[in-house]
Amino acid sequence: MTDFDPDALPATGAAQRLAEQVWRVVAPNPGPLTGAGTNSYVITGGRPIVIDPGCDDPAHLGRVLEAAGGSAAMILCTHSHPDHSPGAAWLRERTGAPLLGQPAPHDGHQDPDYAPDGDLADGARFDSGAGTLVAIHTPGHASNHVCLLLEESGVLFTGDHLMSGSTVIIIPPDGSMRLYLESLRRLRELPLTALLPGHGARIPEPLAEIDRVIAHRMLREERLVRSLAARGRATLDELLPEVYADVPKFMHVYARYSLLAHAVKLVEEGRARVEGETYAWRGA
Ligand SMILES: [Zn+2]
Repeated sequence: MTDFDPDALPATGAAQRLAEQVWRVVAPNPGPLTGAGTNSYVITGGRPIVIDPGCDDPAHLGRVLEAAGGSAAMILCTHSHPDHSPGAAWLRERTGAPLLGQPAPHDGHQDPDYAPDGDLADGARFDSGAGTLVAIHTPGHASNHVCLLLEESGVLFTGDHLMSGSTVIIIPPDGSMRLYLESLRRLRELPLTALLPGHGARIPEPLAEIDRVIAHRMLREERLVRSLAARGRATLDELLPEVYADVPKFMHVYARYSLLAHAVKLVEEGRARVEGETYAWRGA
C-alpha cells in the first residue's frame, strides 16, 4: 500500500490512500462504462467498512482486504450492477461481515448472485470507526441505488450516481431520469466537501459538479424537445443522431438508453405521448 495524491487518476493495483482512513482499490474491469475500473473503497478504523467490492477477482479482493487490515465489519453496496457487487461473496466468506444493500430489482441488468444480508435503508447510520456513515437513497441510475455520506467530513461515496470523466447511464424502466434529477437536487442540499465516485477520480467541488450534471441533462432534454417538437412524431432511432450529434457514434448504443430515459420523463410529465415505438410531441 502506498500514500497517494487523492486527486490522481485511479489505477488498478495497490490501494491508494485518499484520506487518513479512506482507501481506494481499483478493480481490474476497465471499459467504456467503467473507466479505469470500479472503485472499491475501504474505510479503516475500529470497524472497517468496504464500499462496493467490485468484480469477483481474488487478486483485487485480496488488496481490498489488505487495505481493511485483514478484516471487515460491514460490506456495503451502493447498488447491484455487475461491476459493483459480485466481489461481496468472496469478502463475506473470508470476514464473516454482512453485506448490506437495497434489494435488487429484476430487470436483467443486475448481478444475479447479489444477496444482501440486510437492507441499506434511506437514513440508516453506521459507526465506521472513522465517523458516522449515513445511507442516502438516490434512485435514478438504479432504483436500489444509495450514496453513503461520511457525516463529519462531508465526503460522499457516490457509487454510480455521479462519476468523474463520463456520464452515468440510465436504463429504463428501473433507471429513471426524473428520479435521477430529483436525487441530484437532494444531494445539492447536503454540506458536501468531496465526492468519491464509483468510477474515476475524486471530485473536489461537489456543488459545482452536481450543478454541471443537472445542466448537462437539462441541455440534452432541451435538444430532445427541439427535435421532437420539430418532427411532431418520431422514433428513438430517428431522434438519436440529432439529439446526440456531439457524441461519438460508437457510444450511441449507450446513449440510446439515456435518450429513452429522457423520452420516458417527457411522457411522465405529460409533454409527450408514446404509441408503440413512436413518441409524439404534446407541447409545453
Ligand atoms: Zn451501475
